[in-house]
Amino acid sequence: MAEAIVLFSGGLDSILAVRILQAQDIGVTGLNIVTPFHDNSEESCRLGRDLGIEVLVETLANDYTAMLKKPRWGFGKAVNPCIDCRTMMLQRAGEVMIRRGADFVATGEVVGQRPHSQMMHQLALIASQSGLAGKLLRPLSAKVLPITEPEQSGLVCRERLFSCTGRGRSGLIALARSRFGVEKIPQPSTGCQLCEQSFAPRVRDMLKYTEKPTLWDAHVLAYGRHFRISPSWKAAVARRLADCQALVALFGREDRTDSFLLVPENFNGPAVLAVNDGPQREPSDRIRAICAGLLLRFVRADKLPAEEPTATLFDSPGHGTIITLKRDSAADELPMIEQRRKNRPSQDAADNETSNNET
Ligand code: SF4
Repeated sequence: MAEAIVLFSGGLDSILAVRILQAQDIGVTGLNIVTPFHDNSEESCRLGRDLGIEVLVETLANDYTAMLKKPRWGFGKAVNPCIDCRTMMLQRAGEVMIRRGADFVATGEVVGQRPHSQMMHQLALIASQSGLAGKLLRPLSAKVLPITEPEQSGLVCRERLFSCTGRGRSGLIALARSRFGVEKIPQPSTGCQLCEQSFAPRVRDMLKYTEKPTLWDAHVLAYGRHFRISPSWKAAVARRLADCQALVALFGREDRTDSFLLVPENFNGPAVLAVNDGPQREPSDRIRAICAGLLLRFVRADKLPAEEPTATLFDSPGHGTIITLKRDSAADELPMIEQRRKNRPSQDAADNETSNNET
């Protein structure tokens, strides 16, 4: 029995790719790839069980953030390096194929469906750059693509593959329902933060200032409001309790970048994670003062204690000193890295949903 590794996101296209191969009695193992900016592994594993396949999960980490610094084929409309990203995913799929003794790799890609990675020439480029060329089958568009090794050798019947092209989903939905009995059609979604225009300024800031961004640097981008304080320091200020918890958890990780954490001591307010991503290693008193000012910027005046507000400044997990916080005009004026409407400090405080002193 032929065996295939199918790149499996859990989207309609990859579900169809699995169904098409299963209809030819080909053994299928799903492979879900987690990147620093996209993780739907839980949902994919659940969908895989519905399809009766095992789904393996592989993670791209610091090798991914290194690629993001300078993707060979550039970015899409936001900061999505789709060609490089797909190439890395397929390289990993090729490794899994060898490890598992499978015959080929398949994906749910459709010619012309995505402008930055699925045009005909891009599919050919990704196949050759990933080292899979003849062993990469795209069952949904196979009939409009060059014949692959599994088709040539008879492991896969080319006649029973498809010639789908273009961006429309109606043909794929009809195919899924009428030919393969797929009842629940997943909504289209990349779920990839790198495609979000609102997220892009943070990524660009990281790429500009961080010489070698890591998985940890990438994970920090997902939480709170971000401020560039200096070429060496930036701060993430929690917006809500979940952000506080996430920033504290990030500070506790062994792979963290040089950083310090501020947690309010005698009032409810946001945690502030300051990250050193440039050449100046030790935080100066000025950097600490601005971070303290940023913390206060997002607390309404009537929520402050009658006595002087204090916070614990952790320079490593479990090692903190209590400091007194003071308003700071530089912190009040610092623009957020995101492109969004400019709030006055008082509005910022009013908008803030953070209510945390549990960290
Ligand atoms: S959308 Fe995101 S996960 Fe998908 S190929 Fe592009 S960069 Fe990679």
